[in-house]
Amino acid sequence: MDVTEKKIIAMIEAHREEIIAFAEDIENHPEPGFQEFRTARKTAEFLKKTGYRVDENIALTGVKASWERQDTQEPGGADRKNPGYPNITVIGEMDAIGCHTHPKADPQTGAAHACGHHAQMAVMAGAAIAFSDPEIRKELSGSLTFLAVPAEEYIDADKRAALREKGIRFGSGKSEMIRTGVFDHTDIIMTTHVHMVDVQEDFYLGNPACNGFDAERVTVRGKAAHAAIDPWNGVNALSITTSAIQMMGLMRETFREEDHIRLHNVIRKAGDVVNSVPDEAVVETKIRASSLERIQEVRQMVDRAYDGAAYAFGGTIERENLPGYMPIRPRMADDALIDAAEELGLDYRKVQPGDFNNACTDVGDLTQLFPVINFTFRGFEGRLHGADFRITDKEKAYILSAKLMALTIYRLLRKKGEEAVKIKEGFTPVFDKQTYIEYIEKQM
Ligand SMILES: [Zn+2]
Repeated sequence: MDVTEKKIIAMIEAHREEIIAFAEDIENHPEPGFQEFRTARKTAEFLKKTGYRVDENIALTGVKASWERQDTQEPGGADRKNPGYPNITVIGEMDAIGCHTHPKADPQTGAAHACGHHAQMAVMAGAAIAFSDPEIRKELSGSLTFLAVPAEEYIDADKRAALREKGIRFGSGKSEMIRTGVFDHTDIIMTTHVHMVDVQEDFYLGNPACNGFDAERVTVRGKAAHAAIDPWNGVNALSITTSAIQMMGLMRETFREEDHIRLHNVIRKAGDVVNSVPDEAVVETKIRASSLERIQEVRQMVDRAYDGAAYAFGGTIERENLPGYMPIRPRMADDALIDAAEELGLDYRKVQPGDFNNACTDVGDLTQLFPVINFTFRGFEGRLHGADFRITDKEKAYILSAKLMALTIYRLLRKKGEEAVKIKEGFTPVFDKQTYIEYIEKQM
């Protein structure tokens, strides 16, 4: 470890109680997506106290702290063609997940930190503390953004409609932030999470591939009639719905293993009274797969199932498309991350090609536009999103993770940001901001 690395570790050590208290405060006041008002206020207070310039109310509840070198006369990083330094944006997710049975659930909303997002906030806070030291900052070429992001967990259709009235057009925090230009000056993104795949080691370095998804809310329209007197004059919306779902079940045999397709339905409504032929059914359908192409393909199959069933019975289909999250483009562990883990003597494993996470996250959207350096960590027990989830090892979940984050940032931005520039230049995006917005809008 060089002198600066020792200083970074010492800064985090000196503030360990503060970092832990911050994490626990957020854990004890869980808030659902786009409603993280208290979490945002506490985060802003924390970052201001640490000496950052802070912007608030980004995509409703987002908070952004920035630091930039003033002596911008120097050429940007190792690349002299590129004016300006590379920017690293460190993300902490603010939202909790609905889990009424969790002992720390909010009694009103049922939200609980059963996905460990409060630990990510501690990691971000710890790294922010480390880089508040002017001596440490002097060694960096580049700019840093600490971004508390709302609403990682999927928001249901009804709530989305209400959010649109508040100006949130895209369904998740990161997606909305891409749309509104929050990442316009970002070159590299850093994310972290508690382990999402079964990993025995304390740290898992890199970003494994992960499914994306798309959803739709389908309203099936039939015709009401007395269920006993003249059912022949009715068109049964429930029959259309069950037939469509049956067809989807039979279509499953065409799914390829390597596409990781998951297809699920929830019937929200199917008729009003038993004595009447149901004239309206509402179904939410979710399609997960490992590529955007497969998601679109399965979506067309699902649409054919609904249309075919409606045709057979003489009903009609109305659909509301609900764009979901994009798949993660896997990224193996970068040298800066591995070297930082080595320096700290961590027990770690690197992501291997073929590793797969069946969950979905809007980090996937970011990976389509930016290099996203990611690691996950242990220090918890119980099931993700389950009532028994809790952080059991504060050292691993909050402190060691913060150290790993901070040392990686330092390795990326030291020596004129060589490593950061290399990563930036080696990355080919699938979308830029404009084509991303067009893609999502086409789905809506
Ligand atoms: Zn999560």
